[in-house]
Amino acid sequence: MDCLFCKIIAGEIPCTKVYEDDFVFAFKDISPIAPVHYLFIPKAHISGAAAVTEENAVIVGKIFTAIAKVAAREQLDSGFRVITNNGADAGQTVPHLHFHLLAGKEMGWSAESGV
Ligand code: AMP
Ligand code: ZN
Repeated sequence: MDCLFCKIIAGEIPCTKVYEDDFVFAFKDISPIAPVHYLFIPKAHISGAAAVTEENAVIVGKIFTAIAKVAAREQLDSGFRVITNNGADAGQTVPHLHFHLLAGKEMGWSAESGV
């Protein structure tokens, strides 16, 4: 499949991995907007939040479990933010479900995320 994040999972495109289990993969964002900026993705291709269904939704819980583990490991005790962009208005640029984990600075809040 011609999907950037599927290629990263397959090792065809390099990344800095921060977490992996049987279902979830996470790596550093190439253009970080916060001191900590990781992307958490399902190993199985899902095009985005709009493609989450009764059948595949279990992965969302697995991704959030992975996020909690990494947040504990990296001692993000002062806080972190999780964002997923879906579709053009939200600025989704890679059509493979991903959750941004942002931390390491005090963040504002707006529809533009305020980071
Ligand atoms: P979004 O705009 O929500 O679709 O997020 C896509 C994210 O993927 C952006 O924050 C990009 O910086 C990031 N990104 C794009 N290509 C790569 C790559 N090769 N390695 C790591 N992150 C990437
Ligand atoms: Zn994919």
